[in-house]
Amino acid sequence: MATQPTPQARPMPRAAGIPGVKHVVAVASGKGGVGKSTTSCNLALGFAALGLKVGMLDADVYGPSQPKLFGLQGKPRTIGARMIEPKERFGVKVMSIGFLVDADTAMIWRGAMVIQAVTQLLREVAWGDLDVMVVDMPPGTGDVQLTMAQQVPLAGAVIVSTPQDIALIDARRAVGMFQKVNIPILGIVENMSGFCCPACNKVTSIFGKGGARAEAGRIGAPFLGEIPLHMTIRATSDEGRPVVATAPESHHAQAYINIATQVWSAIEDGGTRKPAPRIVIE
Ligand code: ADP
Repeated sequence: MATQPTPQARPMPRAAGIPGVKHVVAVASGKGGVGKSTTSCNLALGFAALGLKVGMLDADVYGPSQPKLFGLQGKPRTIGARMIEPKERFGVKVMSIGFLVDADTAMIWRGAMVIQAVTQLLREVAWGDLDVMVVDMPPGTGDVQLTMAQQVPLAGAVIVSTPQDIALIDARRAVGMFQKVNIPILGIVENMSGFCCPACNKVTSIFGKGGARAEAGRIGAPFLGEIPLHMTIRATSDEGRPVVATAPESHHAQAYINIATQVWSAIEDGGTRKPAPRIVIE
């Protein structure tokens, strides 16, 4: 049965951009553990490898990973009474709730606290001039996604999924949420696509293969590429030496840079900053 907007439906106010930030890209997934943060980090570094001015906003307030991925720790400096200076590593400006509060505290945040925290990360950080800001979203569809959609004119969302059905079902929900608030899907990345055994070089598709590509085709979104399940990606992530920054010529790094190239052209093709979505509360 078709749903009709109720007479009380009212549009949310349009979002203002972040001063100095040209484009904002959300990286999202339907569920946790599929490699969204690892992909966000290497995508941001991929943009930097293209010569762009890049920021990384870790909005995964329930489990911030970017400090570890970028090998950063400690409190950020404040500027004046309100503003916080982002940290910088490998040419990317990074801000995460993980710099400000104990990770265990962040895990129990809900509703209004989450919205306030994300708003501060957007508005009270001295981001400076950026060509592109990558936002590492929490998994699923919740308060942070809605806050971002309301507060920032997003250029679009990149969806990360592993290839198997159980992850794709959730990825589909994430896609549906962004489509509902008129945020373009810039593409889908298939992560952990095939495992290459370091001992025998045999490739085994532990989580299957091709599922995300098929899903992209089904919803008419670009398929951005496959990232293999590989020791090097896991190890460099844990060491705070992400592969795109520390081995940019490697096969893995090139896969991420290729994704960054495609996303950047999609953003540029989109022309100037997209208007903020109109979210209707029924
Ligand atoms: P999410 O943000 O979706 O929860 P993470 O990026 O934190 O997922 O990744 C979960 C774990 O999987 C981490 O230990 C990470 O190093 C590892 N990982 C992610 N992508 C890959 C990959 N392509 N190959 C190997 N390990 C990976």
